[in-house]
Amino acid sequence: MAEKILGIDLGTTNSEVAIYENGAVTIIEGPDGKLLPSYVGLDDHDNLLVGGPAMNQFVVYPERTIKSIKRLMGQASPVPLGDRSYLPQEISAMILRHLKNIAETYLGHSVGKAVITVPAFFSDGQRQATREAGQMAGLDVVKIINEPTAATLVYESSHKGAKKVLVYDLGGGTFDVSVVELQDDVIEVIASHGNNHLGGDDFDALIEKVLMAKLQEDNFTDIPLQAKARIRRAAENAKKLLSIQPFALVEEEYLLTRDGVPYNFSIELARQQYEELITPLLDETLDAVHLVLRDAGLTASEIDEILLVGGSTRTPLVQERLEREFGMAPRFEVDPDLCVAAGAALQAAMISGEEVRAVLVDVTPYTFGTSAIGDIDGRFTIDKFVPIIKKNTPVPVTRSEVFYTAVDQQEAVEIKVYQGEAENALENIEVGNFLVQGLAKRPSGSEIIAKFALDSNGILQVSAIEKATGLEKSITIDNVMSDLSRDTLAAARDKIRKLFGEKDREGQEPPRPGRDAGNAAEPKTMRNSRRVQAEALIEKARSLFDKAGEDDREDMINLLEIIGQALAEDDEDLLQENMDELSEIIFYLES
Ligand code: AMP
Repeated sequence: MAEKILGIDLGTTNSEVAIYENGAVTIIEGPDGKLLPSYVGLDDHDNLLVGGPAMNQFVVYPERTIKSIKRLMGQASPVPLGDRSYLPQEISAMILRHLKNIAETYLGHSVGKAVITVPAFFSDGQRQATREAGQMAGLDVVKIINEPTAATLVYESSHKGAKKVLVYDLGGGTFDVSVVELQDDVIEVIASHGNNHLGGDDFDALIEKVLMAKLQEDNFTDIPLQAKARIRRAAENAKKLLSIQPFALVEEEYLLTRDGVPYNFSIELARQQYEELITPLLDETLDAVHLVLRDAGLTASEIDEILLVGGSTRTPLVQERLEREFGMAPRFEVDPDLCVAAGAALQAAMISGEEVRAVLVDVTPYTFGTSAIGDIDGRFTIDKFVPIIKKNTPVPVTRSEVFYTAVDQQEAVEIKVYQGEAENALENIEVGNFLVQGLAKRPSGSEIIAKFALDSNGILQVSAIEKATGLEKSITIDNVMSDLSRDTLAAARDKIRKLFGEKDREGQEPPRPGRDAGNAAEPKTMRNSRRVQAEALIEKARSLFDKAGEDDREDMINLLEIIGQALAEDDEDLLQENMDELSEIIFYLES
């Protein structure tokens, strides 16, 4: 049997250990799970703490806890811990030793060798310090590999031919972006850029500010450390929730007391608000992406693949911004926290002479979503496809999005569930639909949360929840991941063609999506539907008056008049013609 060599990702925030066994990579779980927080500390009795227990005491006992030691690797000055001090590689050795123990407990025998990953920008001195840390931990470091190389190995372990890959790695405290070139079995980093002080921790800090502002508003100024630590943790949890849902409720019971009376902290955060906060930080990462492309002598269109690495790439806005920039969806099927460790384990297996197979993950091969009011290429439509679970997302997965009712007093909303990639929902395959009736007749803009949960057996559960009242309706659709037969596809295509040709389409108005503007209600016939579209368009045009120049405004007013007349006279052709013209002006004003 080939000798087991460990694959280790020695990270700034978290570290992981992995091995290749039975033709697959296993990330080995320790007491903290698969991710070992990269913290080292001493407890009240001077006992060494590594991982979760050290992290948990950080806020209260910073003088006897060390975090982010990776940032100091290669420096000769020691760091204090309790009443002694240690070289950075000695602290890293404690983390490595802990990982080695975890692996040995799992394997039931001792292990003496490891492949360890480092950032592509690490200097020789920093690589040497990492090697020394391994030796101090009792590990022979058989190879140091670059983190982007490890990630690329995971996605491309059996790649033949040439390819250029962009690896975007946004972790807790660091950001790196690299261009990696593959030529058959050779993987090489050709350019790399990054920021050693940018990551998910900064996202947490921005949320923390909002939470602290709420405390100030409630007249708490002197916040004890323990409460601050709770707020910090709550901020990170809220951030993670906002990756999968449009709102996050932060609740901390008995956070503080005032005059002996307990105070319960509670605030709701919206994803949109959070995204506005982090946009400047994401802009910075995209600046680095441009720099790395320039250094590699490439344009965005020459990149064949984008791979996401690091826990913070779970943030939907990260994925969206990259997709907008490169015109292709980044790949994230492999857990971004574990990808580098998995690559290290693959490299380790190759060194010990094992035949390595590609890493397999259970993903959805299709995108699932719903339809809503919006525009496609500047044209107003009630059938804009809004993806909710994107293809290649690992399953099981749950994602939700917010939509808004389109008109005042709206009583019902129809949720149509589609599978496909086309921007026009009608070009996708409708796999189910349901009606939510009995909405609370609120003013337009009332929030409806659509929640999609897909399990690994291909069962898709879709729910719609009226946020204000909790009214919920759901359906379960079986077998959504199975390949549809040719007949089914043909029938679906037929149906779509007919729908396009048909003038009188039955159906309720879909809600409008969270990000797009636009309004409508719930018509029963095509004509009602037109009417509702027109009303929505009128409302939207009015909301944009301030943005329009004098001439445009005049044109808009004229068009609105004609649209009003067409509505009064039930003249569909006149209505359509003028709605098209108005849509164009709106598109121009919005872009
Ligand atoms: P890493 O250094 O790669 O382990 O990444 C750790 C960072 O990823 C931390 O800042 C985490 O808060 C962040 N993170 C983990 N899960 C998520 C998530 N679901 N959404 C956003 N950030 C996350």
